[in-house]
Amino acid sequence: MHGTEESLEQKSFAQLRPLVVSSEILAAVVCSIVLLVADVSQGISPWLYSYGLVAGVVCYLTYRARTTYSLWLSGMLLVCTCTACLGSLAIAIGNPLLWFLPIGLVFSLPVSAMHAQPWHALSTGAAVWATLFYVVQPSFDRQLDLTLTLMLITASLLVATMVCLTLCRIRKNVFDLQRQLHDMAYRDTLTGLPNRRAFMEQLTATVSDETTPLFFLMLDIDDFKKINDSHGHDTGDRVLVAVAKVLSEQSQGHNFARLGGEEFAVAAQLADVAAAQQLAQRIVSAVNSNQMHGFSLSLSIGLAAHEAGESMFSLMRRADLALYDAKHAGKNRYAMAGLSQQA
Ligand code: GH3
Ligand code: MG
Ligand code: MG
Repeated sequence: MHGTEESLEQKSFAQLRPLVVSSEILAAVVCSIVLLVADVSQGISPWLYSYGLVAGVVCYLTYRARTTYSLWLSGMLLVCTCTACLGSLAIAIGNPLLWFLPIGLVFSLPVSAMHAQPWHALSTGAAVWATLFYVVQPSFDRQLDLTLTLMLITASLLVATMVCLTLCRIRKNVFDLQRQLHDMAYRDTLTGLPNRRAFMEQLTATVSDETTPLFFLMLDIDDFKKINDSHGHDTGDRVLVAVAKVLSEQSQGHNFARLGGEEFAVAAQLADVAAAQQLAQRIVSAVNSNQMHGFSLSLSIGLAAHEAGESMFSLMRRADLALYDAKHAGKNRYAMAGLSQQA
């Protein structure tokens, strides 16, 4: 099969990680600068600097994160640390009530764009407000306007969740479109098999790997034109689908494709030529045991063993010549290719 297809989770992680890591470093640096500035003008308690240390450790944890789940956890830890840091600073400089709502809004809203799931954004926002209540609220000199505060908190959590939900939907749509484009570029629409482009890209990668012997099988359905002519083009199409099914069953783990028309190919890394011959014979027999609309299918195979330093095109040409030998020898069989004319 062609390549390894990335999941939405992997793609989201790859997109979000640089954003989260750089935002976290920025937040940690800004908090440290604010502490330094406040220290110069107000002379704050030295223990407040421990927040900077914790933020640094959390940034490192985010840098090491490998899933969106761990990005969420370390991101939540970082915003809670920064919230606690600025909340403690607001207490230290003597105006916690004034700073309560701005700090909460600053840390609960922008982070919503950096999560892979809406509930990640919601829980992070809730954790920010909870941290703020825990750190700042005990030092209030008068009561907060509870209705206004709850309204703002609820609104901030709703906005954070909706922003994240919208971005997740956009990310999912882009992901689905990319997958469709990939399938259009790399899959054969009739049979669903990888197409020539997918096959050639993978073969280019394997042909240079000389550690395991490589075998190339060129397959061609016998008398396919007759099937089309006598049973119709749609029956011909069904034959192609049936042969593709047999091929994917028999060639699991190898690189196989529909090259075009009624021609298929398999590139298999196998221990020795005997194993390759067994594979070729298995495919010939499996296709031949298929009864379609009262006639039995057959195909012929040209089998070539890759020689050290041989180009992909020479390998394919030799397999193609062997395929003609199989056709001339009576079809419904495989034939081995001769050695290349290399010096
Ligand atoms: P041989 O045994 O020597 O291979 O003969 P053949 O009839 O199989 O080969 P030939 O090259 O003469 O015919 C191939 C036919 O495949 C001709 C073409 O119309 C048909 N064909 C190519 N693509 C498709 C397709 O997607 N669907 C159908 N139904 N027919 C196709
Ligand atoms: Mg042909
Ligand atoms: Mg044919």
